Amino acid sequence: MKNLGYYNGKTGLINELSVPLTDRAFYFGDGVYDAVMCRNNIPYLLWEHIDRLYKNCQILGIVPPMCKNELSLTIKELVQKVEGEEKFVYFQVSRGSGIRNHSFTEGEGNLCIMIKPQPLDNVYEKMDTVLKEDIRYELCYIKTLNLLPSVLTAQAATEKGCEEAILHRGSIVTECSHSNVSILKNGTLITAPCDKYILPGVTRAHLITAAYENGIEVKEEKYTVKDLYEADEIIVTSSSKMARGVKTIDGKAVGGKDENTLSVLRDTLYANYLNATNK
Ligand code: PLP
Repeated sequence: MKNLGYYNGKTGLINELSVPLTDRAFYFGDGVYDAVMCRNNIPYLLWEHIDRLYKNCQILGIVPPMCKNELSLTIKELVQKVEGEEKFVYFQVSRGSGIRNHSFTEGEGNLCIMIKPQPLDNVYEKMDTVLKEDIRYELCYIKTLNLLPSVLTAQAATEKGCEEAILHRGSIVTECSHSNVSILKNGTLITAPCDKYILPGVTRAHLITAAYENGIEVKEEKYTVKDLYEADEIIVTSSSKMARGVKTIDGKAVGGKDENTLSVLRDTLYANYLNATNK
């Protein structure tokens, strides 16, 4: 198949499968999601993403319609039906169904999965970015379907021909529209702490591990917009980007002063991905 959609047990092409209007994802964005890259039909770090999804469900009181193991098996089975060496696998659980009413009653959630061919980003290519005020609320640590502020900042980046919007709350850098952002300064990796203002990215966690493994000091602490501009390198991480350097912010050249440490981290993450997904 060219791509595949799954909704509560039904499968079909993504643009042909329909969702009932009663799904709370539809009018409240009342649900959570996660996503992984898949190569050679091996979804990369699937368990860590499933684990985050179920933690998010627990925080919000959403009841997934199947256990973690069953979801893992379902995804592994479905990826085989879609053509392509590299694919993007998206999965979401909404709170469930009902006539529109803000408050909810107990019940099982709806599971939706979408799989499409998509190559991993070119990890060696540094990206252009824009800087935007972080206008999100205080649930950024939950991977909720409510992404309106992220949609707007991502669109602002696209309209400037850039790939990401780096976000800040006042003077403090938080993360990006759909990735985490860290900096290198004097050989140290500095990355925002996991508080309510950032999503604890799986790739961010692997970046930190890669740093420790390669003897690079790590500081999980807040850093400022000034630090960002003065950084030796800026690193954007996500499942589909892995670890990529930043070339410009709002057209101004940034980083480019510690290619060596950047390449150690980037190459470690990329090699881990390739090794784990070899046939
Ligand atoms: N931060 C935000 C807001 C995201 O949407 C994402 C991914 O979608 C990330 C960070 C990166 O998370 P991960 O590395 O788990 O893909």
